[in-house]
Amino acid sequence: MRGLAMMGIGKIGWVDKVRPSCGPMDAICRPIAVAPCTSDIHTVWAGALGDRHELILGHEAVGEVVEIGSEVKDFKVGDRVLVPAITPDWNSLAAQDGYSMHSNTALGGWKFSNFKDGVFADFFHVNDADGNLALVPEGMDLADACMLSDMVPTGFHGVELADINFGDIVVVIGIGPVGLMSVAGAALHGASEILAVGSRPNCVALAKEFGATDIIDYHNGDIAEQVMSKVGLVDRIIIAGGTVDTFAQAIKMLKPGGKIGNVNYLGEGDFIKIPRVEWGFGMAHKQINGGLMPGGRLRMEKLARMITTKRIHPGKLITHRFEGLDSVEEALLLMKEKPKDLIKPLVIF
Ligand code: NDP
Ligand code: ZN
Repeated sequence: MRGLAMMGIGKIGWVDKVRPSCGPMDAICRPIAVAPCTSDIHTVWAGALGDRHELILGHEAVGEVVEIGSEVKDFKVGDRVLVPAITPDWNSLAAQDGYSMHSNTALGGWKFSNFKDGVFADFFHVNDADGNLALVPEGMDLADACMLSDMVPTGFHGVELADINFGDIVVVIGIGPVGLMSVAGAALHGASEILAVGSRPNCVALAKEFGATDIIDYHNGDIAEQVMSKVGLVDRIIIAGGTVDTFAQAIKMLKPGGKIGNVNYLGEGDFIKIPRVEWGFGMAHKQINGGLMPGGRLRMEKLARMITTKRIHPGKLITHRFEGLDSVEEALLLMKEKPKDLIKPLVIF
């Protein structure tokens, strides 16, 4: 099979590999739709996870099952399936402890393009098929379906990590596709005000549509100063963009007892600096929770229902469409360049 791989830090290329084999609990799928992710960009061009050679990229896909393991009960060849970016080992002790995404090691549920070949290929392997796959609901648009792999569950995990309650004043830092789903999730969780930080016009427009009540452009100065001049200190902050320095701004504008949920993949920088005084000298109960989304089938099924009942419209994130495996390279490079009109590209096979 062919696939688009990381060839080393800063390098991608096409590779020919043997189709992965199917264990008794596994599935082999062919992609029907895939999407490049900012995480692919951090992995290749920032070398965030270290060097990788000939590892096929991609972790966001909708697939069709082409081979199924003998022990798999609920899926068969020909099924169209939602594939979460995070596919934990559900019998691991970490999963039993409530941290499926860290099954066997930190971030261990993140297998595609991290520990094994990803989905930018003719075929890809899914471990624990019964625990990780979900059927694509009848009639679901492929753009909506593909955004269930990562953008919806990660954006929503930011909402969970920040623990948003009714009436909270919320800041969402970063309104790329992940942050936009955090805006939508914060609105569903009852935020009274959502200040969204970003600048690309498409993202700003969709943030307003998804529930943002105000927009902060980080190019116009310190985010904390801008936010505090409008609403004072805030209850909750979701970080879905920015750098290691973003945390200092977040701590500054957070109320005592407030919570920060980080889903940003910190690709560069060795340390995160927490300002001592604004952090209440270590005693202000300002919490920072950073997490990888949990993955798995139940979450996919539940989030898919939110699309079929029209509670969320993640397909609106798609601004650029491509066709066929060969075009994955162009779509990935587009994600790297981030032109002003881009939110998220989709490749249909
Ligand atoms: P994008 O690059 O599309 O969006 C980033 C956002 O952050 C944009 O709105 C951008 O503004 C804004 N931004 C950039 N610089 C700053 C700054 N200095 N201060 C404040 N805001 C800034 O990213 P995605 O939405 O695709 O992904 C967001 C992050 O989530 C990435 O790091 C990605 O790797 C990570 N991720 C994490 C996962 C997890 O499970 N934890 C899974 C998937 C992704 P502008 O509008 O100007 O571009
Ligand atoms: Zn992703």
